Amino acid sequence: MSAIVNMKLQSTQPSASLEAAQLARDMRAKGHKVISLATGEPDFPTPQPIKQALIDALQANHTGYPPVQGIPALRKAICEKFKSDNDLDYDPAQVIVANGVKQIIFNALAVSLEPGEEVIIPTPGWVSYSEMVRLNDGVPVELPTSYEEHFCISPEALEAKITDKTRWLILNNPSNPTGAVMTEKELRAIAEVLERHPHVYVLSDDIYEHIRYSDEDYFTIAQVSDALYARTLTANGVSKSWCMTGWRIGFAAGPKALIDAMRTYQGQSTGGVMHPAQYGAVEALNGPRDFMADNLAQFRRRRDLGAALINDTDGLSCHTPDGAFYLFVSCKDLMGAKTPSGAVIRSDGDLTRYFVEEAEVVCVPGAAFGMSPFFRISFACPIEDLEQAILKLRAAIAKLEISASGEPQ
Ligand code: PLP
Repeated sequence: MSAIVNMKLQSTQPSASLEAAQLARDMRAKGHKVISLATGEPDFPTPQPIKQALIDALQANHTGYPPVQGIPALRKAICEKFKSDNDLDYDPAQVIVANGVKQIIFNALAVSLEPGEEVIIPTPGWVSYSEMVRLNDGVPVELPTSYEEHFCISPEALEAKITDKTRWLILNNPSNPTGAVMTEKELRAIAEVLERHPHVYVLSDDIYEHIRYSDEDYFTIAQVSDALYARTLTANGVSKSWCMTGWRIGFAAGPKALIDAMRTYQGQSTGGVMHPAQYGAVEALNGPRDFMADNLAQFRRRRDLGAALINDTDGLSCHTPDGAFYLFVSCKDLMGAKTPSGAVIRSDGDLTRYFVEEAEVVCVPGAAFGMSPFFRISFACPIEDLEQAILKLRAAIAKLEISASGEPQ
């Protein structure tokens, strides 16, 4: 790497899901009929009234620098959202708007971590958490969960990871990549542990809140414990549920001192979020949500078909997720298999590369989320593509030579 790049960046991994999505674009540009199951964004357009609100804001010349913390109308709408969806009381002074939840999390870590402080991340977890912690001189601490226990966080395992240096626990409910949704009971058990450790803060990434398939009520951790409300940053955004990934609007509410510091940091680094987009987000939060039920019905059909096809494929298995739009697929039975060209598949990275070459299907290896051997499929794509892609994976797997004993070779 060039001498201009510092040591910290030299050891930073690019986002595996963004890289996989780029690989699919590059292959398409070369004329391949590649199907991408890598993308973490809904394939539905932003609803028309939200687009119109942005257009109206442009026409009204809301084109100057926006307030760094977010326009007042949006911060008000965010407070109302937290109250009506989550029964959480926040004052607009406790709310900040940023370029996506991604920037919210980065900035929260940037203004709070001292070098060497630890951040506990349930694993598998979103690709960016650990890299963001490292970029801010912190130490990511994995909190392993298991396929067998449906990726539930064990309160005992959590307690065992807490040290004097622990600064944050990151929760992601529903989870990317597993789709697991934490229940009120599970959140209360986690809260009980954290109440014994007042130096630990919680960053709750609730970006998939409205993409859930059961009728159970949704809970976020600040709701279940008054003690934790005071040390939780509740992050959410419009990217996934409102089909607005490209608008770059995320927001968070939490302790005012933290929000003030995040405003200072953002003001000196990027500034406020694109002004007309904030007006669109006001419409998103205040407007009707009927489209979400339609989108969810489509996601549910894809989820059910995708999980059934995967579980009917030799060597693969997955749970049917309760939330988000991903299948996290176990491929342990394919480790050690031989490809037609004689290469041995030793990792989920080897397998997903083989899928690209043999099936022209792009998935994200589990290693990127801290758990192997798995791979992640996004079902935020047309159901025909999903079906065709999994059948292609099946055909590619059928060409693998797996030892007769079923043991890895
Ligand atoms: N958090 C999780 C768990 C995600 O999966 C993603 C996007 O993939 C984000 C945050 C980023 O959200 P935003 O578009 O608001 O930056």
